[in-house]
Amino acid sequence: MPDQLPVAQMTAEWYAHLQRYDDTIHSLLRTLAGSNSAALAQCFYQQMLNDPSAGAFLSHDDVRNRLHGSMSRWITDLFSVSDQEELKAVVAHQVTIGRVHARISIPVHLVLRGARVLKEEFILCIAAHGPQDSAVQAQAGRLVIDIIDRAMEIMSYAYSASHDRNSRAEEGYRLFSLTQNLASERERQRGSLLDWENQLMFGHAVGMDKQLLTGISNSEFGLWFRHKGAHAFEGTRESEQILDTMIHIDNELLPQLAAGDKSQQEYIDHLRELRDQVRSIAFHLDALFEQNNELEAGRDVLTRLLNRKFLPVVLSRQITYANRHQQTFALLAIDIDHFKQINDSYGHEAGDAVLKQLAVMLIANSRAGDYLFRMGGEEFLMLMVDVDRNSAVQKAEKIRRLIAAEAFVLPDNRSLNLTISVGLTVFDGHPDYQLHLKRADNALYRAKNNGRNCLIADAV
Ligand code: GH3
Ligand code: MG
Ligand code: MG
Repeated sequence: MPDQLPVAQMTAEWYAHLQRYDDTIHSLLRTLAGSNSAALAQCFYQQMLNDPSAGAFLSHDDVRNRLHGSMSRWITDLFSVSDQEELKAVVAHQVTIGRVHARISIPVHLVLRGARVLKEEFILCIAAHGPQDSAVQAQAGRLVIDIIDRAMEIMSYAYSASHDRNSRAEEGYRLFSLTQNLASERERQRGSLLDWENQLMFGHAVGMDKQLLTGISNSEFGLWFRHKGAHAFEGTRESEQILDTMIHIDNELLPQLAAGDKSQQEYIDHLRELRDQVRSIAFHLDALFEQNNELEAGRDVLTRLLNRKFLPVVLSRQITYANRHQQTFALLAIDIDHFKQINDSYGHEAGDAVLKQLAVMLIANSRAGDYLFRMGGEEFLMLMVDVDRNSAVQKAEKIRRLIAAEAFVLPDNRSLNLTISVGLTVFDGHPDYQLHLKRADNALYRAKNNGRNCLIADAV
């Protein structure tokens, strides 16, 4: 979320600027925007349609049908602000638009080009329909430019804030796919750290040329940590400590060890110090893998399913893929019925065991290309790839039935039965993943209201 400060400041500046203009100018723009918004939106739209690179973003019927109306409303709203509250709402709307643009990755230059066309057309409109007073026309024109520019600034601000967040998630996702098997990654990196230490100790023991001994920063471990580990664990105290310790080893301890004029005791002390430092790296590394990596790497700690922070990356990618290959996918929003009662009757640990077993069942009933997310609490999301509506509904029904029939085993070996409600939606080409999530959620909501233990597919 873009932080509140710049937006609040942008709003205040915008409001102050509006007050520098007379009411006559404001009411002129309000009137002109009101009566010409449809024509202005049409110009903008025409411009977009003429641009082949914009075509990809307008390919969906829904977008095409709605764009005209929403552009037209956007213009009217932008020029009919009468107090600070209304301006706040207008600014909030620009933030939303910027975020939607980021979600569907519409290039910023297309939006800016549209804004330029609009400014030109609006100024022509003032000349044609406004009072024939050149001073008034000039002022009104300046205000039009100013208002549209401010809207663009806020949109771009929200766009880049969301975009940064998406790229960070994308990066994390990439790291996660590189190091999917965390247990073996941890062993490999521990091993290469110890290898480096052993080689160094051995080199010293046999009196090898010190120039030939690699520093820790350039060892296999150091390379991995500096380029990948530090990235994956960015911002943690342990990660900083490992980086600092490696610098300390290379810049201070190794030169001390290599220096000729020291007693046997000093030499042993230096070696001992080095070993302690390497141990501290191994210790911090373990802590990082223990505490952070499960989450950082994308898996939910309890169920081992994907963390929801990767939803934007995975869904955006899936939408691009589906559109490119003319395929569809289904989203299943899954929620355990009356889960709170399970916690209340059997305890939180029993609830956790149930969540784990459910996750295992979902995995067993998904295909290799499908994705499973834990959305939080007792809510899951399944993305079924390459399915049509019928088979998605059949598969989802099968999962619902299997779960209702399953005995869930509790830590004390008692067992219980439970049911789930499922909301299903099938991708229809719309580029905004948020819309599809909302459809699945709404369907789930209806399944709950329909008495639970059932599947509702959204009506399309
Ligand atoms: P509904 O059928 O309407 O979905 O009812 P519900 O009881 O399943 O839903 P509600 O949202 O009221 O309660 C969800 C409960 O899930 C409340 C919360 O304490 C529990 N919960 C959330 N996360 C965890 C977890 O990680 N472990 C356990 N054991 N319980 C959790
Ligand atoms: Mg529930
Ligand atoms: Mg719930």
